[in-house]
Order: sequence, then structure tokens, then C-alpha cells
Amino acid sequence: MPELPEVETVARLIRPRVLGRTITASQALWLRSLGGPSAAAFDEQVRGCAITHVGRRAKYIVLTLGRAAPAERAAPKHRLTKHEPAGALLVHLRMTGRLHVEPSADPLGPYTRVALSLDDGHTLRFDDVRKFGRFTFVADPAAALHHLGPEPLSDEFTGAWLRDALRQRRRQLKPLLLDQEFVAGLGNIYVDEALHEAQLHPLQSSERVTKPQAERLVSAVRAILEEAILREGSSFDTFYRTPEGQPGSYQEQFRVYGRDGRPCRRCGATVQKLVVAQRGTHVCPRCQRTPRGVP
Ligand SMILES: [Zn+2]
Repeated sequence: MPELPEVETVARLIRPRVLGRTITASQALWLRSLGGPSAAAFDEQVRGCAITHVGRRAKYIVLTLGRAAPAERAAPKHRLTKHEPAGALLVHLRMTGRLHVEPSADPLGPYTRVALSLDDGHTLRFDDVRKFGRFTFVADPAAALHHLGPEPLSDEFTGAWLRDALRQRRRQLKPLLLDQEFVAGLGNIYVDEALHEAQLHPLQSSERVTKPQAERLVSAVRAILEEAILREGSSFDTFYRTPEGQPGSYQEQFRVYGRDGRPCRRCGATVQKLVVAQRGTHVCPRCQRTPRGVP
């Protein structure tokens, strides 16, 4: 499933192709992708809106929408149009979602679930083989995203914050780091990679993490996410591709993820696979000591 680096890559590559464009029409070919409204209600919400910002929050691509302010509608074309907020589209790729922009003249693919026609002759397309992804309109994006924890690449995510937050939770590290309300954007791959880099075991109790360990974990999470963004994410199956159709290359750097039975890149011990919180979890038994009390 795409995590922060993959979603960030999609947002960055989509941005120059859709920013400032106006949505002239919408097609919903698989209603469930919209997460609720009818195709007609969705069309009414988005048609005529300009895309005024393209960003990411957690694993959502956020397309902020605006409508030309009433006084501006009759204004001469060369003036910079002011927009009133008109909600946002939250795109969650889940397992197999893919966002890309193509010329409107090109036929839609067999897996296109939602398509937005733009005023420059292109169409923003949301393809999704397995249909778990969502392409949802929300009137109030701040409220819709309110439950999410801090962004790990923001100034909020510090060693001091993390240590306090870990102490309050009393949970095992891995399930806690996967919890989007605790910290946003991490998933199975980058949690395994960061815990290995920080030399912390996924089953360690959060309240036992020391200040230096919390500092190390923050540095590891940041370094791994930044490197993965530079490499446009990880592609280890046929699903995740950038909007340009290219695979990411961070999978070539994996420290432990998917490397069970192979030597640890740091110490040479054999990487092991465990199941933690129903997720396949990869650890080096030498770099990541099993915590006391765990068999
Ligand atoms: Zn090792």
C-alpha cells in the first residue's frame, strides 16, 4: 500500500499538471470510489471549481478547490482570479489506486473509476484495479483530516514530543507507529525500515523507550522518508507507479523489509520475519534486541 513517500511523490508530480486548472466535467465510473454521494451530487460539488492547491496529508492527496469570488467573475481575464474556498478532494490510493493526467482525447482505461475533465484539454484520472481507493469530496478538509497525528517531516515531530507521546500510550511500538492518529503517513514498510535504522524492536513497549531512543527513532523516520521521497517511493509489485508511469526505486535500499532469510546490511545476521499486529514484520535479531518479557 502506498505510504507517505509514494503519496508525496504522486502529489508533487500531479501538482504542476492540475494546479490552477478548472474542472469542467466529472465522470464517476465506480460510485463507491466517491465514498457516498451520487454521481450527480459529486458533479455539482466539483464542476466549475478551480484546483487552488495540491498537497498531501498523511496518506491522502489533497486537492483544494475554490470558486471564483462573485465580484471577480465579471473581471477582465488578465486579473488574478481570487477564489473562495469550495472544499477539497481527498484521494486515498489504498492498495492499487493510481492518479494520472492524460489528454482528454485519450480513451479512459478499463480501471478508471473517476475522471475529471480540466479546462486545458486534459483529464485527471483515478484508476484503481481493486477498488479499495477513495476519491472523496469534503466541504471542510480541516475537519475531515482533524483526527490525524502529526506529520513526521514537520517541526512538530521531535524527540521530546515522541518520547512523551510514547509514554502516554503503553502500546507496542509497531502497532502504535502504524496508527494514523498517533503519527501520520507511516505504513508497514517504512515502520520496519525506521525501527531497524533506530535499532528498536517492533514489540518494545512504548513507555519504555528512552529519550535517546526516541531521538534516534525521529532521526531514522525522517532520514528514511526523505530518502524514499528522493527515490519516488518503493515499487515491489506492479501497482505503485508515479503519475508518469515510472516505478519508484527505494526498494533497492530496503534494510529489512521483504529481506527475511538474507543478511542484515548492518551486521550480517539473518533478517527474520515475525507477525506483529497481523502484519508481516521484518527485524534483525542482532540489531533489534527482543525486549524483556517477550518470548
Ligand atoms: Zn543487524
